[in-house]
Amino acid sequence: MSATIVEAVSPGLEAALIDGTVIGQNVSLAKLTTLGVGGSADFYSEPQSQTDLSALMSACREHGLPVTVLGLGSNFLVLDSGVRGLTVRLSAVVFAGIEVDESRIKCGAGAKMKKVAAEARRRGLSGMEFLEGIPGSIGGGLRMNAGAMGSELFDVVETVRFMDPAGEVFEISAESIESTYRSCPLLKNQIALGAVLKGEPDTGEAITARMAEYSQKRWGSQPKARSAGCIFKNPEGIPAGKLVDELGLKGASVGGAMVSQEHGNFIVNNGDATAGDVSRLIDRIREKALSERGIELQTEVQIIGGEDRHE
Ligand SMILES: Cc1cc2nc3c(=O)[nH]c(=O)nc-3n(C[C@H](O)[C@H](O)[C@H](O)COP(=O)(O)OP(=O)(O)OC[C@H]3O[C@@H](n4cnc5c(N)ncnc54)[C@H](O)[C@@H]3O)c2cc1C
Repeated sequence: MSATIVEAVSPGLEAALIDGTVIGQNVSLAKLTTLGVGGSADFYSEPQSQTDLSALMSACREHGLPVTVLGLGSNFLVLDSGVRGLTVRLSAVVFAGIEVDESRIKCGAGAKMKKVAAEARRRGLSGMEFLEGIPGSIGGGLRMNAGAMGSELFDVVETVRFMDPAGEVFEISAESIESTYRSCPLLKNQIALGAVLKGEPDTGEAITARMAEYSQKRWGSQPKARSAGCIFKNPEGIPAGKLVDELGLKGASVGGAMVSQEHGNFIVNNGDATAGDVSRLIDRIREKALSERGIELQTEVQIIGGEDRHE
């Protein structure tokens, strides 16, 4: 977006806010993602209230600006060209609550999934143990239908609250929401504000034991270096990591981006990677999977930036 357009649109966005929300311009997003690469958001905001978020949504609609939601950036690859329009992040306390009422946990979209798992354990509720090692927010988890150890988030979701592009808020039952492997299509164009999760009573010892077992499994197979989690969705018939391994691509690198030696479905940032390095490595893996095995790999990581959004 040109500097002139930014100057023209900015007062319109700021005038819409009443609760102290600030809008930054040309804010680098790399440091807000776990992979740590990529360009800047034209506009960036951490809304301080639902009212301000709603006002931002309507102002963007009025000005024809695209809106991107960033969670904890743990499955988010920002292209070097940056992100057009407004990027919002629900990091304010008002969006990050976790409240327990008997067997239900009401979580804000900004709440960390790990914290939800810990709170469920504290209250003797099982079913959320698998969230212990997923480094994202509830909002990102809902959008991605995050999962591990044979469970996925929508297994325990009762209702989802979200805001539409006009700034209107809705709460609907999970039964009426389509959720698939690593995706909740509804949330592609809506902002999740939170969810009610339902647990089952169990003893603290049993829950702790399951969480410890999951943690051990995870850290026995996952790199500690900076990454964006799994790069590819598992294709039919073979886990993506195993396929990458069989293609002989473990350890393959482009610039500062390298396929993890520990897990073929992770690309790690060796310190000086660019988004271009990561993208070229992704392309190289996809090309080899197609030419040698006839498999079209789909990315799980959300590639965001330029004029387009891809899945
Ligand atoms: C080391 C590591 C391990 C991981 N392990 C797992 C795992 O076991 N299982 C798994 O499923 N994932 C895993 N991931 C990936 C990641 O943690 C999940 O996909 C998580 O759900 C992303 O949440 P986030 O808040 O970081 O979202 P982000 O990465 O910030 O965003 C992901 C997508 O969600 C959208 N989004 C974010 N917030 C909202 C919102 N409020 N409303 C609507 N859309 C929103 C974004 O626009 C983007 O499209 C791992 C990642 C890492 C780095």
